[in-house]
Amino acid sequence: MHIRRDVVDAIVEHARRDRPLECCGLLIGIGDEVVECRAARNLKESPVAYLVDPGDHFEAIRRARARGLAVVGAYHSHPRSMAEPSATDIREANDADFIHVIVSLADAEPQVAAFRIDGSRAIRLPLALVEG
Ligand SMILES: [Zn+2]
Repeated sequence: MHIRRDVVDAIVEHARRDRPLECCGLLIGIGDEVVECRAARNLKESPVAYLVDPGDHFEAIRRARARGLAVVGAYHSHPRSMAEPSATDIREANDADFIHVIVSLADAEPQVAAFRIDGSRAIRLPLALVEG
């Protein structure tokens, strides 16, 4: 998948701001290209789980449609664990086309990875950074 570098920077910034809680948000783009992210409230307010506020999700859909784009995925942070889907992340995923970006703050350097989750299988997507 392709993602703008400034979008990755914004996701990492959001993760750091909300640490020690998990942060979350929506990814806006087209196909497998992400051009924008929108922060959302994590209704679970938890260090190990997240739930995107449905109102924020709806707002992101409206915003995307107004620009001829779509919500192609979501991001969330793992403040203390690796950038891989947790068992809960896999269980709660219900759209095989949805892109899941996870940012880990477990190491000194943030790690960012992207996945599609098909049933019980997480498929890692190569991450191509787009300048702009
Ligand atoms: Zn997770």
